[in-house]
Amino acid sequence: MSHILWITGGRVIDPANQRDAIGDIYAIDGQLVDSLSDAQKAQATQVNATGLVVAPGLVDIHVHFRDPGQTHKEDIRSGTEAAAAGGFTTVVCMPNTSPVCDNAGTIQRIMDKVERDAVIRVHPSGCLTLGMKGEHLAPTGQLKNAGVVAVTDDGKCVQSNEIMRRAVEYANMFDLIIMDHCQDASLTEGAVMNEGECSIRLGLRGWPSAAEDIIVARNVILSETTGAHIHMQHVSSAASVDILRRAKQRGVAVSGEASPHHIEFIDQDIGDYDTGLKMNPPLRTAADREALIVGLCDGTLDCIATDHAPHSPTEKDQEFDTAPFGIIGLENSLASSLTTLYHSKRLSLNEVIALMTHKGAELCKLDAGTLSAGANADICLFDPNESWTVDAEKFFSKSRNCPWHGKRLTGKVKATYLAGKQVFDGTSITA
Ligand SMILES: [Zn+2]
Repeated sequence: MSHILWITGGRVIDPANQRDAIGDIYAIDGQLVDSLSDAQKAQATQVNATGLVVAPGLVDIHVHFRDPGQTHKEDIRSGTEAAAAGGFTTVVCMPNTSPVCDNAGTIQRIMDKVERDAVIRVHPSGCLTLGMKGEHLAPTGQLKNAGVVAVTDDGKCVQSNEIMRRAVEYANMFDLIIMDHCQDASLTEGAVMNEGECSIRLGLRGWPSAAEDIIVARNVILSETTGAHIHMQHVSSAASVDILRRAKQRGVAVSGEASPHHIEFIDQDIGDYDTGLKMNPPLRTAADREALIVGLCDGTLDCIATDHAPHSPTEKDQEFDTAPFGIIGLENSLASSLTTLYHSKRLSLNEVIALMTHKGAELCKLDAGTLSAGANADICLFDPNESWTVDAEKFFSKSRNCPWHGKRLTGKVKATYLAGKQVFDGTSITA
């Protein structure tokens, strides 16, 4: 017998199809359909979404699931549970696992584990260079055949412009998006936080935004000369936004993402050496944060991506200099994005949802992020106006390094559906 889902009475927001109206959503056997017959309605699982937004399942093109290699921090099961609880149904995981994803075997291992353990859709990305060492190209064709949807050395940045040019040309031949973690390593040796007044006051080694801007500019030039699409991961500085904006105006095939933490926190928030706010790239100034928000508003930045980066408490509970970079965000990123962008009246609900669904999906050519008939019935139900206090102790993630812990946010995920079946009910994982 067919599995039929009928979601009634919600505000359906599907930015890819310019749909925003109270209405019903129907799915048969995992796929969205335009309507149901009376007989099908009689057989359907009915969900009353009155008062809720019915959106496409959220898409995040930048997460770290630490699997294989560091599964005490996260694994495919816990990472995808955290994602489902955050309203996400599709993610792209980064290749800096252990071993790194520079070969088809490791990708196959991840795909097998996804098949077995994941509660949502997970697409792997592959390395740009062997061992992420920035010296020799990874076998891009093999990686593509194994199933990667993007290539990146995220966590590191290819320093040699010659290697990067070849990597970009090669990935472009295979029609894969190149995503880059933009960081000139010569400018960030020993650096742990944004270079500025705060780093001076705290006596910490500063990380200038120029380290990012120089690589963003390099990538613009490489994209322009090769025609390849280069995507800038976790853009953090005003100058980088400016470089991207001008490149896009010329028609260069570049794109960029902003992370929820960079549009919420700034370097001053580090206060008394709070390692919970140590991340790469670092939190910048209020002016940088404002430039990122403007970039999201005018389309210079294409999507929101969490850079969900789990670390264990013992690792984060060290001196600022030695603690690892990174924070987790999957379980609160819809709420924090709504709070920072929608409730502050910078963007409409439609625009925030677009940044968290089809925009990222289109960059990586993923079949996700819309409520079109025929698409996967991946759906997120949320209350845009419900306030709640983030409690990282209750997260499905194995890690607790969340800078929103204890913060009050507005916007609450009420249910997540994958292929027409509920995987999260607002409290528990039901998959
Ligand atoms: Zn990164």
